Amino acid sequence: MQPLAGPVSRLIEAFSRLPGIGPKTSARLTFYLLRAPAEVALELADALRDLKQRVTFCERCYHITETSPCPICLDETRDHRLICVVEEPLDVLAIERTREYRGVYHVLHGAISPVDGIGPDDLKIAELLARLESEPVHEVILATNPNLEGEATAMYIARLLAPYKVRVTRLARGLPVGGDLEYADEVTLARALEGRREI
Ligand SMILES: [Zn+2]
Repeated sequence: MQPLAGPVSRLIEAFSRLPGIGPKTSARLTFYLLRAPAEVALELADALRDLKQRVTFCERCYHITETSPCPICLDETRDHRLICVVEEPLDVLAIERTREYRGVYHVLHGAISPVDGIGPDDLKIAELLARLESEPVHEVILATNPNLEGEATAMYIARLLAPYKVRVTRLARGLPVGGDLEYADEVTLARALEGRREI
């Protein structure tokens, strides 16, 4: 059999390194792009380049941003005494959609998961503790996902926060257990924030 042209096998290989994409899907995506109009492929290439060149993480809260500190951290009208700790940038967007929260955030970039080899040092936990030293924080809301990893992460952080003079709260029950925050509807999420309880 004739081997595939270099650029074709290169793209198939690149796609297959992405999470959730096996060899079949990566071949399908590659041949789709090969047949699609040039603009479709070039738009994808541009978006990928911009993603790495223009998007960075906020030096304070680790949310994704084009400028650091991010606009949320720089917003003087927000309550900087209140930090909501979430797993992923998409969780920030989910909570912002509720329009109920006026504090700031801290993005951990994951949750503790021994099975996946993710420990506390892989997350932005030390960075959160550093913020407590330098910012006038009164309350930390642990808004990790209501699943095993999210609960374990919340408990771990709550223990670390015990020596600090801050109120530590967890989102109220009512979020679908085992689910992801980013998929919760606004009303449920707003209610969970409203009914947060001390831990
Ligand atoms: Zn920020």
